[in-house]
Amino acid sequence: MADCLFCKIIEGEIPSSKVYEDKDVYAFRDIEPQAPVHVLIVPKKHIESLDDCSEEDIELLGRVMTKVQEIAKLAGITNGYRLVSNCGEDGFQTVNHLHFHLLGGRPLLWPPG
Ligand code: 5GP
Ligand code: ZN
Repeated sequence: MADCLFCKIIEGEIPSSKVYEDKDVYAFRDIEPQAPVHVLIVPKKHIESLDDCSEEDIELLGRVMTKVQEIAKLAGITNGYRLVSNCGEDGFQTVNHLHFHLLGGRPLLWPPG
């Protein structure tokens, strides 16, 4: 999508620190890390949020989820992690292209603030 930050990152129009890529998924380091390891896992298809996915995305999202363990290893996570997708106003989503925050490298608090 023309005006989407993450579509531009996926296309290479905006530089990013890539961790993993295949035909469905692009994963790169967050510019403002909230943990020692903070990677954004992004389906290449422009879906705005979890609120906007549909039955036709089941296979794609399944493939994204089953890649998480490999991306965690590539990112250097060795002792567990958290995967988060912020959605909508209360979820504080700021980029409207579906993505999953992969956080690790320290004990993570629960519940989040
Ligand atoms: P959200 O707030 O939508 O859940 O997550 C958006 C994330 O994108 C934030 O953690 C923010 O730091 C990250 N981000 C915003 N702009 C850029 C950018 O240009 N490059 C990278 N690598 N991350 C970005
Ligand atoms: Zn997009």
